[in-house]
Amino acid sequence: MNTDNFIIKINDLKILKNELNFKINEEFFNTFNYKDIDECDINVKMSSIFELNKFNLSFNIKGNLKTPCDSCGEDLVLKLEFTDKRLIVISDEKQSNEIIFLPFHENVIDISHMIYEMIVLFIPIKRSHILDGNDCNKEILNQINKKNKLIDDRWSSLKKVNIKI
Ligand SMILES: [Zn+2]
Repeated sequence: MNTDNFIIKINDLKILKNELNFKINEEFFNTFNYKDIDECDINVKMSSIFELNKFNLSFNIKGNLKTPCDSCGEDLVLKLEFTDKRLIVISDEKQSNEIIFLPFHENVIDISHMIYEMIVLFIPIKRSHILDGNDCNKEILNQINKKNKLIDDRWSSLKKVNIKI
């Protein structure tokens, strides 16, 4: 996915109450080498308020993404709906955690990484079908359990052998 759309001219952003819309699909995540998303359809509404040397950016993120379930491996659809904010200050200072500093000479800003970060941080670390209210694929879970039991059995028989020695 071409992320050129996410590069915004600072002068455009200075227009009071600016609102921009972005559409994000799975290719967006490929550009950041994030491979856990099979499919996605996300809308991002960004509004910016400019005052003095600051941009207050508000993001409204809404959509769905498909990712494999950690328990059974089948598709899991996660619904996203959240808001986030970023503060950008025009200054030659160094980066800090909360504020993004934009050097004076810069006339564009790429917000793709900001959006990427917000979405990825929102995705739970443990992804399971419990999250979308569905049940895991029982057949696959049974197979996984059987396989684990087999490994456990092998281990316990190995332990017994060790005890005998
Ligand atoms: Zn599952």
